[in-house]
Amino acid sequence: MSVLLLNASFEPLRVIPFRRALTLMVGGRAELIARDGERVVRTAGGDVLEAPAVLRLSRMVHIPWRAVPLTRQTLRARDKGRCQVSGCDRKGDSVDHIVPKSRGGGHEWSNVALMCRTHNSRKSDRLLSELNWTLKAEPQAPTGMMVLVDQAGRRVEWEPFLGEQEDAA
Ligand SMILES: [Zn+2]
Repeated sequence: MSVLLLNASFEPLRVIPFRRALTLMVGGRAELIARDGERVVRTAGGDVLEAPAVLRLSRMVHIPWRAVPLTRQTLRARDKGRCQVSGCDRKGDSVDHIVPKSRGGGHEWSNVALMCRTHNSRKSDRLLSELNWTLKAEPQAPTGMMVLVDQAGRRVEWEPFLGEQEDAA
Protein backbone atom coordinates (compact mmCIF):
# COMPACT_ATOMS: atom_id res chain seq x y z
CA MET A 1 0.00 0.00 0.00
CA SER A 2 1.26 3.46 -0.88
CA VAL A 3 1.28 6.30 1.60
CA LEU A 4 0.43 9.96 0.99
CA LEU A 5 3.18 12.24 2.26
CA LEU A 6 2.22 15.77 3.34
CA ASN A 7 4.54 18.69 3.87
CA ALA A 8 4.65 20.25 7.35
CA SER A 9 2.10 22.71 5.95
CA PHE A 10 -0.30 19.80 5.20
CA GLU A 11 0.18 20.34 1.48
CA PRO A 12 0.30 16.97 -0.35
CA LEU A 13 3.85 16.29 -1.56
CA ARG A 14 3.94 12.88 -3.09
CA VAL A 15 2.98 9.25 -2.88
CA ILE A 16 5.67 7.09 -1.30
CA PRO A 17 6.08 3.34 -0.89
CA PHE A 18 5.07 1.83 2.43
CA ARG A 19 8.63 0.87 3.40
CA ARG A 20 9.85 4.43 2.84
CA ALA A 21 7.00 5.70 5.00
CA LEU A 22 8.04 3.41 7.84
CA THR A 23 11.63 4.63 7.58
CA LEU A 24 10.43 8.23 7.94
CA MET A 25 8.32 7.33 10.96
CA VAL A 26 11.03 5.32 12.71
CA GLY A 27 13.53 8.10 12.05
CA GLY A 28 11.16 10.62 13.62
CA ARG A 29 11.01 12.64 10.41
CA ALA A 30 7.28 12.29 9.88
CA GLU A 31 4.22 11.96 12.04
CA LEU A 32 1.20 9.77 11.56
CA ILE A 33 -1.86 11.69 10.35
CA ALA A 34 -4.18 8.90 9.25
CA ARG A 35 -3.93 5.19 9.94
CA ASP A 36 -4.40 2.35 7.51
CA GLY A 37 -7.39 0.91 9.36
CA GLU A 38 -6.32 -1.10 12.39
CA ARG A 39 -3.16 -2.50 10.78
CA VAL A 40 0.06 -2.56 12.75
CA VAL A 41 3.53 -3.44 11.53
CA ARG A 42 6.54 -4.78 13.34
CA THR A 43 9.84 -3.18 12.39
CA ALA A 44 13.16 -4.98 12.08
CA GLY A 45 14.09 -3.45 15.42
CA GLY A 46 11.05 -5.05 17.07
CA ASP A 47 8.94 -1.90 17.43
CA VAL A 48 5.23 -2.11 16.72
CA LEU A 49 3.94 0.80 14.64
CA GLU A 50 0.48 1.80 13.51
CA ALA A 51 0.43 1.34 9.73
CA PRO A 52 0.24 4.74 8.02
CA ALA A 53 -2.06 5.87 5.21
CA VAL A 54 -1.09 9.56 5.49
CA LEU A 55 2.11 11.01 6.98
CA ARG A 56 3.21 14.58 7.58
CA LEU A 57 6.83 15.70 7.53
CA SER A 58 8.05 17.21 10.77
CA ARG A 59 10.02 19.84 8.89
CA MET A 60 8.89 21.93 5.98
CA VAL A 61 10.64 21.07 2.72
CA HIS A 62 10.81 23.17 -0.39
CA ILE A 63 10.10 21.17 -3.52
CA PRO A 64 11.03 22.90 -6.76
CA TRP A 65 8.43 22.62 -9.50
CA ARG A 66 9.14 19.77 -11.84
CA ALA A 67 7.51 18.91 -15.12
CA VAL A 68 5.84 15.53 -15.23
CA PRO A 69 7.64 13.29 -17.75
CA LEU A 70 5.49 12.16 -20.66
CA THR A 71 5.26 8.38 -20.53
CA ARG A 72 2.57 5.88 -21.39
CA GLN A 73 1.76 5.59 -17.70
CA THR A 74 1.52 9.31 -16.96
CA LEU A 75 -0.52 9.88 -20.12
CA ARG A 76 -2.89 7.11 -19.10
CA ALA A 77 -3.30 8.79 -15.73
CA ARG A 78 -4.00 12.19 -17.30
CA ASP A 79 -6.56 10.85 -19.77
CA LYS A 80 -7.98 8.39 -17.23
CA GLY A 81 -7.43 5.52 -19.62
CA ARG A 82 -10.21 6.68 -21.99
CA CYS A 83 -10.35 7.68 -25.63
CA GLN A 84 -10.26 11.49 -25.73
CA VAL A 85 -12.41 11.97 -28.82
CA SER A 86 -15.65 13.73 -27.83
CA GLY A 87 -18.54 11.33 -27.44
CA CYS A 88 -16.38 8.19 -27.29
CA ASP A 89 -16.31 6.15 -24.09
CA ARG A 90 -14.04 3.33 -25.24
CA LYS A 91 -10.71 2.49 -23.63
CA GLY A 92 -7.78 4.59 -24.81
CA ASP A 93 -5.41 1.88 -25.95
CA SER A 94 -3.21 3.92 -28.23
CA VAL A 95 -1.32 7.19 -28.10
CA ASP A 96 -2.33 9.62 -30.80
CA HIS A 97 -0.27 12.59 -31.96
CA ILE A 98 -2.92 15.23 -32.54
CA VAL A 99 -0.81 16.97 -35.15
CA PRO A 100 0.76 13.87 -36.72
CA LYS A 101 4.53 13.52 -36.46
CA SER A 102 4.62 13.24 -40.26
CA ARG A 103 3.17 16.76 -40.35
CA GLY A 104 5.56 18.23 -37.81
CA GLY A 105 3.73 17.50 -34.55
CA GLY A 106 5.91 16.95 -31.51
CA HIS A 107 5.84 14.29 -28.82
CA GLU A 108 4.74 16.64 -26.04
CA TRP A 109 1.84 16.93 -23.61
CA SER A 110 -0.10 19.45 -25.70
CA ASN A 111 0.06 17.18 -28.76
CA VAL A 112 -0.78 13.73 -27.40
CA ALA A 113 -4.03 12.10 -26.36
CA LEU A 114 -5.24 8.57 -25.73
CA MET A 115 -7.56 7.17 -28.38
CA CYS A 116 -9.37 3.88 -28.87
CA ARG A 117 -8.07 1.69 -31.66
CA THR A 118 -10.97 2.60 -33.92
CA HIS A 119 -10.46 6.35 -33.64
CA ASN A 120 -6.69 6.03 -33.82
CA SER A 121 -6.71 4.03 -37.04
CA ARG A 122 -9.41 6.20 -38.62
CA LYS A 123 -7.47 9.32 -37.79
CA SER A 124 -4.22 8.08 -39.28
CA ASP A 125 -2.17 11.13 -40.32
CA ARG A 126 -5.04 13.58 -40.55
CA LEU A 127 -5.84 16.59 -38.39
CA LEU A 128 -8.87 16.73 -36.10
CA SER A 129 -10.23 19.63 -38.14
CA GLU A 130 -10.13 17.50 -41.29
CA LEU A 131 -12.32 14.91 -39.59
CA ASN A 132 -14.60 17.32 -37.71
CA TRP A 133 -13.59 15.69 -34.45
CA THR A 134 -13.09 17.48 -31.16
CA LEU A 135 -11.41 16.33 -27.98
CA LYS A 136 -13.02 16.14 -24.54
CA ALA A 137 -10.41 18.53 -23.16
CA GLU A 138 -7.53 20.67 -24.36
CA PRO A 139 -4.45 18.46 -23.88
CA GLN A 140 -2.19 19.96 -21.22
CA ALA A 141 0.71 18.94 -19.05
CA PRO A 142 -0.74 17.59 -15.80
CA THR A 143 0.32 18.75 -12.36
CA GLY A 144 2.74 16.37 -10.72
CA MET A 145 0.81 15.60 -7.58
CA MET A 146 -2.38 14.50 -9.26
CA VAL A 147 -0.58 12.18 -11.65
CA LEU A 148 1.24 10.50 -8.79
CA VAL A 149 -1.97 10.11 -6.85
CA ASP A 150 -3.87 8.69 -9.79
CA GLN A 151 -1.09 6.28 -10.65
CA ALA A 152 -1.05 4.93 -7.14
CA GLY A 153 -4.83 4.70 -7.03
CA ARG A 154 -6.66 7.04 -4.70
CA ARG A 155 -7.24 5.83 -1.16
CA VAL A 156 -10.17 6.97 0.89
CA GLU A 157 -7.88 8.05 3.76
CA TRP A 158 -6.18 10.56 1.42
CA GLU A 159 -9.28 12.39 0.29
CA PRO A 160 -9.41 15.00 3.08
CA PHE A 161 -5.92 16.18 2.06
CA LEU A 162 -6.29 16.26 -1.71
CA GLY A 163 -8.99 18.88 -2.11
CA GLU A 164 -11.68 18.75 -4.76
CA GLN A 165 -11.40 16.16 -7.46
CA GLU A 166 -11.38 17.61 -10.95
CA ASP A 167 -14.40 15.72 -12.16
CA ALA A 168 -16.41 14.83 -9.09
CA ALA A 169 -19.39 14.21 -11.39
ZN1 LIG B 1 -12.67 6.53 -29.54
